[in-house]
Amino acid sequence: MSSSAPKVGFVSLGCPKASSDAERILTQLRAEGYEISGSYEGSDLVVVNTCGFIDSAVEESLDAIGEALNKNGKVIVTGCLGAKSGVVQAAHPSVLAVTGPHALEEVMSAVHENLPKPHDPYTDLVPPQGVRLTPKHYAYLKISEGCNHRCSFCIIPSMRGDLVSRPVGEVMNEAENLVNAGVSELLVISQDTSAYGVDMKYRSGFWNGRPIRTRMTELVKALSELGVWVRLHYVYPYPHVDEVIPLMADGLVLPYLDVPFQHASPRILKAMKRPASSENNLARIKAWREICPDIAIRSTFIAGFPGETEADFQQLLDFLEEAQLDRVGCFAYSAVDGAAANSLPDQVPEEVKQERLARFMELQEAISASKLNQKVGRIETVLVDAVDGDQAIARTMADAPEIDGVVYLADAEGLQVGDLVEVQITDADGHDLWAGPPQF
Ligand code: SF4
Repeated sequence: MSSSAPKVGFVSLGCPKASSDAERILTQLRAEGYEISGSYEGSDLVVVNTCGFIDSAVEESLDAIGEALNKNGKVIVTGCLGAKSGVVQAAHPSVLAVTGPHALEEVMSAVHENLPKPHDPYTDLVPPQGVRLTPKHYAYLKISEGCNHRCSFCIIPSMRGDLVSRPVGEVMNEAENLVNAGVSELLVISQDTSAYGVDMKYRSGFWNGRPIRTRMTELVKALSELGVWVRLHYVYPYPHVDEVIPLMADGLVLPYLDVPFQHASPRILKAMKRPASSENNLARIKAWREICPDIAIRSTFIAGFPGETEADFQQLLDFLEEAQLDRVGCFAYSAVDGAAANSLPDQVPEEVKQERLARFMELQEAISASKLNQKVGRIETVLVDAVDGDQAIARTMADAPEIDGVVYLADAEGLQVGDLVEVQITDADGHDLWAGPPQF
């Protein structure tokens, strides 16, 4: 690219969904001939993609904007915190523009206004799969934006609006381009993957001239034709989710389900206004394991939600013991600015929340350690994430990048990032595994 091309610096904070927005903005910038610069000083302008989910993320985002202003001076803010433009403007009145999340066009017009685009669009420089922030061998595939639920602790619907599904043909084309560019694993993300297509009444779209319904099961079947790992995130335990479990048992999609249960007490789930809160989740998990014994279930929980009694919390621990989930995250409830749960009665004192969080983690650590221990001796297919000499770091089908565990590989000469190899698990701790070449 010409060195006279206008240069844009880019800072991206927040969750995988925010990264997916960032990828679209970067792709568009490159498509229009802007150069992406790795330093504040070398940029003509900086775009900061923010996160506003919890208070610490708001602070981190405001700090990043401040740093970009100090070092560069010309800053455009986008992303979740941008939805609260008053907060950004109050802290940093000199930012050039503030847009909310999922606002590609608004960001681009703010860029155009402050840094005119070059005359010749270098569209040919953009690879058809776009520009990605994740390493080349895996990629996030965003299938929808927004959410129709109104969980009382969450402000995403007020920031991102109701569910809008991406057309299935567009999702499939993006997935195909990613695979053609060498991606070995697609991570399907959204705010509610199980709701994909609801807003379109599940109507059919077209991929390669073939009709495909805009619906999770049909999308998963089509993705499985691409011959790479497909991993499903943010799935709620609705009855129709049962349809994808046989596809997992048949090896069409990874036997991995990220289901954010958040609690087990019906009273608390109701106060949280959680989707599918009246389902019998233990029965559902049992049925899933009968169809696909190797399914890895990841979930997240909140301890100390307003109104949670010791009996509610005990119900959560009993659920955990019974469910034997593979990967679990837990947070002590913390108020999010603007969330309905802030005004619920019987807020739990901070020390009680922390004490419950610690009890929860102690129990889950023992469960995770025992589940990982059961893998010692087994042959597993792993995806190589990093190689350093004769050592490598990889993941099994049960581990999503960045949030789950890894497999440390010995005797890994000749392996390359993105390779799928069979290894034998030799050791485990509460989080990770160790492995070497299979010993027959
Ligand atoms: S399902 Fe609930 S927690 Fe998830 S984005 Fe929607 S409202 Fe927020």
